Amino acid sequence: MFKSTSNYPMITVEEAWRRVAAQMAPLPPRAYALDTALGLVLAEDVCAVENMPPFAASAMDGYAVVAADEGPRRVIGEQSAGPDREMVVMPGTAARIMTGAPVPRGADAVIPVEYTESDGDTVVLHANVLPGQHVRPAGQDIAIDDLVLTSGTVLGPAEIGLLATMGRAQVQVHPRPTVAVMATGDELVPLSEALAPGQIRDSNSHAIVAAARACGFDARSMGLIRDDIDSLRHAILQGVQSADMVLTSGGVSMGTRDLVKPLLEELGVVHFGRVAVKPGKPLTYATVRGVPVFGLPGFPVSSLVAFENVVRPALRIMAGHANIWRPEIEVHLQHDIAHAPDRTEYQRAVVIVENGVHVASTTGVQVSGRLKSLVGANALLRLPAGRDSFRQGETVTAILITMPEVATTR
Ligand code: AMP
Ligand code: MG
Repeated sequence: MFKSTSNYPMITVEEAWRRVAAQMAPLPPRAYALDTALGLVLAEDVCAVENMPPFAASAMDGYAVVAADEGPRRVIGEQSAGPDREMVVMPGTAARIMTGAPVPRGADAVIPVEYTESDGDTVVLHANVLPGQHVRPAGQDIAIDDLVLTSGTVLGPAEIGLLATMGRAQVQVHPRPTVAVMATGDELVPLSEALAPGQIRDSNSHAIVAAARACGFDARSMGLIRDDIDSLRHAILQGVQSADMVLTSGGVSMGTRDLVKPLLEELGVVHFGRVAVKPGKPLTYATVRGVPVFGLPGFPVSSLVAFENVVRPALRIMAGHANIWRPEIEVHLQHDIAHAPDRTEYQRAVVIVENGVHVASTTGVQVSGRLKSLVGANALLRLPAGRDSFRQGETVTAILITMPEVATTR
């Protein structure tokens, strides 16, 4: 029996997020090879076990000298970056030295080669040298036992470099969450097939996998699942066994073939099934065998906006991030916009800086099936419920979903 009203009370976006967040926790840390840890969150404090530089090193190509000396110096040899030749610079002598080379014993300064004149055997200095000049003492950048990175740090290129400096081939991080994505619907065909009457191509599984990967998560598609309770059950159970999160698309509305919600009730606990949000009202959240399952709506824009607003921050919690939200800024509307007053609405928009002010224009018709409304959008305008329109020049909140590159002219 299908009822004409939903079993699920309509909850606010804020309440929906509270219910999701209440159950999200960082995945337990494990060791990752350093070169696979980009973007992950460190789950240990890292202290230096070596000095950096490990020895007093020259910062310039020049001559290692005794600063207090005067007059020409006899050149005793050459020390390049690499094995220490264990030369000793005495007063009256100098060693040719290269950037990164160990400063020979006895020398206390390096004079850049530009300020010297040499015939190969002796060198004359044309500038004053001060003790310590152009010498990087051992431990100048990092001293043994220094706390170099703290647990919770996001590993970017510099952090990876620092861990490599510290000789860390492996690091303890929160794992990259794995996400199983499936599209449901009898009308869907894969890319490889021609469309028969009544069919459309599945775009959601591709777009959602891409959205998750773009945020650094490990998403893979389980393909197309028919609107058939046994196939769906099999797929969802397979998903929760193999991934940290399952995302389905479609089948969460009020149609007779919308089987995802009743199935999630059978397999686990549904925490909500309707949210006062546009797009994405039928967004569903359940846990099955402890694994979060989001039933994303079938309309392509709805599924991506729900991913952005709810799934992405949830995955960021699992990945151990302390900061899970996109930046939000106030923007001035460049035109009037109409808005559904009963729900929080996220309109897709392009935000630019004009005369030092952030201004926003929407990407045109905002219906949930029109994927083009997301193409080129760098922001979602969050329009609160309770009003039916916003006027040109008014200020609204924009969630910045991408940072545009700056155009260059060649
Ligand atoms: P549903 O939520 O299953 O009722 O689907 C709502 C709308 O989204 C319908 O017009 C579907 O054809 C469309 N849709 C559902 N799944 C997909 C998908 N994987 N790719 C593209 N469109 C879809
Ligand atoms: Mg469907």
